[in-house]
Amino acid sequence: MANEIEAGALYVVATPIGNLSDITERALKVLSEVDFIAAEDTRVSGLLLSRFDIRKNIVNYFEHNKKSAGEKIIEELRSGCSCALVTDAGTPAISDPGTELCHAARCAGIKVIPVPGACAAITALCASGFDSRRFIFEGFLPQDSEKEQVLTSLKNEKRTVIFYEAPHRLKKTLSELYEALDDRRICLCRELTKINEEFIITTLSEAIALYNEKEPRGEYVLVLGGAEASEEVFWANLSVEQHVDFYTEKGLSKMDAIKACAKDRGVAKNVIYKQML
Ligand code: SAM
Repeated sequence: MANEIEAGALYVVATPIGNLSDITERALKVLSEVDFIAAEDTRVSGLLLSRFDIRKNIVNYFEHNKKSAGEKIIEELRSGCSCALVTDAGTPAISDPGTELCHAARCAGIKVIPVPGACAAITALCASGFDSRRFIFEGFLPQDSEKEQVLTSLKNEKRTVIFYEAPHRLKKTLSELYEALDDRRICLCRELTKINEEFIITTLSEAIALYNEKEPRGEYVLVLGGAEASEEVFWANLSVEQHVDFYTEKGLSKMDAIKACAKDRGVAKNVIYKQML
């Protein structure tokens, strides 16, 4: 692929997640040569650009102005200008603004060109030593009623799971993961590519104990081991009815037994309820 900047193209440019030396030669060339840059935070990206002596017109494109700013950017692209989309760190559109702009560009027949580089999720996974043949990326856990649904759906997930988490929510998230998924192996990947980079490989219960002793600091990616294939679930050969009976025989009410069965199977209560009718 030629490295010349294409008129009217949207470049999706990854930037470093800590160590500025991780910027790619191609990213620097694109940032220097496009007509303008759309950035999540013009101040943050301004610092990066000045570090590499790049002076460029920057416009804001962030979560809360993405509709109006997106429309203006698409107009500019349509008129033949080239644009580089960047976020504060890492790969745009990965738990960051960008998806809607790429979608709008594609719908408008505008060429979208990726300029790959750092992504915290992949950086964490590749160094964790956890099974990376099959993995899923959850990003930040939802903070609303959807959270329980997501956690329930992960109960029997055998693939490695990657989460992003902010330090002030880490303790709560570790407890919620433990409660929903029982004890699992976890790699807490902290401050990746920065001076205080750290990988803590432990279990959820031990991580909870660790952070009862000290406050989490810095940025974290959580790499969680999948439910062990060897730990075959006890209900694997039970029908839904037998599974519910298992819990009623243990003394649970019918409704609680249905709830427990639904939780085990990672489905909503009414799915089990309907099958019981
Ligand atoms: N788009 C970015 C990417 O490609 O990784 C992610 C942006 S998301 C808003 C920010 C989250 O990514 C942080 O809260 C943290 O979970 C993770 N993250 C980003 N940089 C990191 C780093 N250097 N070390 C650990 N986690 C990091």
